Amino acid sequence: MITGVIPAITTAAYIIAALMFILSLAGLSKHETAKSGLTYGLVGMGIALIATIVSAVHDMDALKDKWLPITILFAAMAIGAAIGFWRAKVVEMTGMPELIALLHSFVGLAAVLIGWNGALGGFHSSGVNPGDIRTLTNVHEAEIAIGIFIGAVTFTGSIVANLKLSARMKSAPLMLPGKNVINVGSLVLFAALTAWYVTTDGHTGKTPWILLAAITALALFLGWHLVASIGGGDMPVVVSMLNSYSGWAAAAAGFLLGNVLLIVTGALVGSSGAYLSYIMCKAMNRSFLSVIAGGFGIEAPTSDDTDYGEHREVNAETVAEMLAGAKSVIITPGYGMAVAQAQYPVADLTQKLRNKGVDVRFGIHPVAGRLPGHMNVLLAEAKVPYDIVEEMDEINDDFGDTDVVLVIGANDTVNPAASEDPGSPIAGMPVLEVWNAKDVVVFKRSMAAGYAGVQNPLFFRDNTQMLFGDAKDRVDDIIAALGH
Ligand code: NDP
Repeated sequence: MITGVIPAITTAAYIIAALMFILSLAGLSKHETAKSGLTYGLVGMGIALIATIVSAVHDMDALKDKWLPITILFAAMAIGAAIGFWRAKVVEMTGMPELIALLHSFVGLAAVLIGWNGALGGFHSSGVNPGDIRTLTNVHEAEIAIGIFIGAVTFTGSIVANLKLSARMKSAPLMLPGKNVINVGSLVLFAALTAWYVTTDGHTGKTPWILLAAITALALFLGWHLVASIGGGDMPVVVSMLNSYSGWAAAAAGFLLGNVLLIVTGALVGSSGAYLSYIMCKAMNRSFLSVIAGGFGIEAPTSDDTDYGEHREVNAETVAEMLAGAKSVIITPGYGMAVAQAQYPVADLTQKLRNKGVDVRFGIHPVAGRLPGHMNVLLAEAKVPYDIVEEMDEINDDFGDTDVVLVIGANDTVNPAASEDPGSPIAGMPVLEVWNAKDVVVFKRSMAAGYAGVQNPLFFRDNTQMLFGDAKDRVDDIIAALGH
């Protein structure tokens, strides 16, 4: 039962915030409503933050010296907000995925710290001191162990994802011998340690602390191993999976803190992240369970020493002529377009060609770039009309009737090896079948491989020509060559 004005207002505010978060998720699922979705999320978070602060300050009324914790609370918030504001302001669009991975790691770390604080008896679970009601004690201990476990897996997993996405760690999968046994064994060991921890009598002496430390260390190791074992091509699923884990970690922290809003928000993030991972797995023809289990059942890729022959180069003027004479053009952007920030000249080029009566469309691979929806965001930013931006499934059968395909900074997402070479690390992943078009022009700076580290036979096909250089510069050159 809720007694007092402040707790009643807080509860009402939490309900409103939770509704805002649901509306936000609904809005974010479509281009047209994404902006209002974002606004709902911001308002919801604002309400949640204010309500939590008011409630925390109210709870401190009982303390003798309440000003010290209040000062610490606001100082910590000010420092955190300043760092967050600065990072968000300076981050490049291409650095977003690793920043998001890092933010997930903070959620994980927070859950671990809250779990340990709960074990130290720093607060009451659900407003009830576990020591008072013997029957609830075990539930509280289980919450602690599970919260710490999910949090620690999220923490190290997200750090490895951050290192892989920022290329400070190799994107190739780590292949420890018996990796599946390690993963399954770790889960079994966690279950055993938790059962032992929960049933340890009285919670006095060293044993509970040793058990909790073992659970924490095991989870930190498992998080590192799960994500390190996943190859570059599967990283999109890992990012959304860690997003999901961070939600469950927050929900676990919510149970420990007795904070209903944290439970609801965590569950929303956890389940939407899990659903996104599932959609991405389907799009990439990967087994959901295999990816969340750290590449369970995926064998080491065979090495590739195939001689693909010579590639052909082309210059911007020739590409301009090809485009001017084309009836239909499809542009397939990838990570390189984001790096070069070429979306603005690409939008200009599109407009120019459409003015000349050329049918121009975009083909978007579900994992192009380094974030779900990365290309859609860039194209929307450059004001490319939504109705000419098509998903891979919608456009894949149309390449055969297309005169020119411009592959702008994409590589893995247009790699025919995915469908033709069963030994390839990206085997089975559906790709944009650009090679079926009459002519293909690939914009990139060198013959280097894409994120998955796999050579691309597309570059050596008879109907493919390479336009080397920074994508933005080359698109500018084509626009100049096309004239007015
Ligand atoms: P890739 O990462 O496969 O390839 C990008 C290409 O862009 C590179 O080959 C690079 O070649 C080129 N490039 C880089 N900078 C420039 C530049 N300034 N101008 C021109 N070209 C440039 O991109 P895709 O989008 O095709 O594939 C995405 C990959 O990332 C997939 O493997 C996917 O699984 C993975 N991934 C996707 C995530 C997501 O959520 N979307 C998240 C994490 C990973 P060069 O160096 O020669 O210029």
